[in-house]
Amino acid sequence: MTRPPSVPLFSAELAARGLDLTAVLGQAIASERYVLGPWVQAFESAFAAYVGVGHAIGVANGTDALELALRGLDIGPGQRVLTVANAGFYGSSAILAVGAEPVYADVDPVTLNLAPQVLADMLGSQSIHAVIATHLYGRMADMTVIAPLCRAAGVSLIEDCAQAHGARLAGRAAGAWGDVACFSFYPTKNLGALGDGGALVTGIDALADRLRALRQYGWGSKYEVVCRGGRNSRLDELQAAVLAAKLPGLDVANAERRAIAARYTAAFADMSLQAPVVGADENVAHLYVIRSPRRDALRMHLTACGVASDVHYPVPDHRQPMHVGAYADVHLPVSEAACHQVLTLPCFPGMTDSQVSQVIDAVTCFEQEAV
Ligand SMILES: *Cc1c(COP(=O)(O)O)cnc(C)c1O
Repeated sequence: MTRPPSVPLFSAELAARGLDLTAVLGQAIASERYVLGPWVQAFESAFAAYVGVGHAIGVANGTDALELALRGLDIGPGQRVLTVANAGFYGSSAILAVGAEPVYADVDPVTLNLAPQVLADMLGSQSIHAVIATHLYGRMADMTVIAPLCRAAGVSLIEDCAQAHGARLAGRAAGAWGDVACFSFYPTKNLGALGDGGALVTGIDALADRLRALRQYGWGSKYEVVCRGGRNSRLDELQAAVLAAKLPGLDVANAERRAIAARYTAAFADMSLQAPVVGADENVAHLYVIRSPRRDALRMHLTACGVASDVHYPVPDHRQPMHVGAYADVHLPVSEAACHQVLTLPCFPGMTDSQVSQVIDAVTCFEQEAV
């Protein structure tokens, strides 16, 4: 018999406090437009302005956004896309969906984001057609180095911002660095819908037109197919209405996540586990991920204490069974080691001080028993 945890990993209900989403949905229902109508348009404009780019294009989910970004950039069979192997396979899925080949790069040992030096070496020594840079756990990859490297190599840059809504580096938002960027609005994300949703953002006008066509059957206008590889991947009006209502609260919610993360990192300072560097605007603390060589024992202890936890992610992309040994010769020491050590602790807006204390007490108790 397992009791439900008294500290969950995430609570949509707590995170949405103060917003009457029933009223929002009521309005959207009453408008009697359910697909690509005024709510999607309003949300797209607001989100593009928030990120600071010319265009946002609503799509069905974050994985579709990645796939459509690749299609938009004409990436397909025979082409190679560099990405990281520690970000849950979403980028890999999209690369495989367009018939291209994933090429895996190792990550920085501190941030677990794409390591600029590894990227530089690989761009210099291999044929690469595009790069997907993921801002993992809410912390931005070092775009001040990565973006110029890609530009100099003439390689398209896609940002995966599914964990980094609202993060800013050097005054520029996540999503405003690449040729195109992808967002997911899955309910647990920093900006979450009441179901699936996603968006692409780009400052390139012609690419925006192409992406709008690709998300809807390849149509330039109704029933006129202007590009190959079109899909049906649209954002619903109901979800867009929810997202438009939640967007103005995103920065406050992110600040709340960051404050919880800062409390944890301060409390864990003298422990043997490795706490993440919280930092400032470049980290919106989507997931609070520690690393411990005794991860599995710690996880069992937390479960017994009523504290939920999870592992993001247990299997690196190049070791996933579907690849059937195709990457047996590829070794990514940092990514591989991290899979055995990472543990995600509860960190979400609306989490109470006493819930945060309960998590800290549970971790402290494990660490003290161990010495
Ligand atoms: C959630 C997530 C995705 C996929 O988004 P979906 O909307 O679930 O398809 C892609 N990349 C990263 C890094 C994610 O965290």
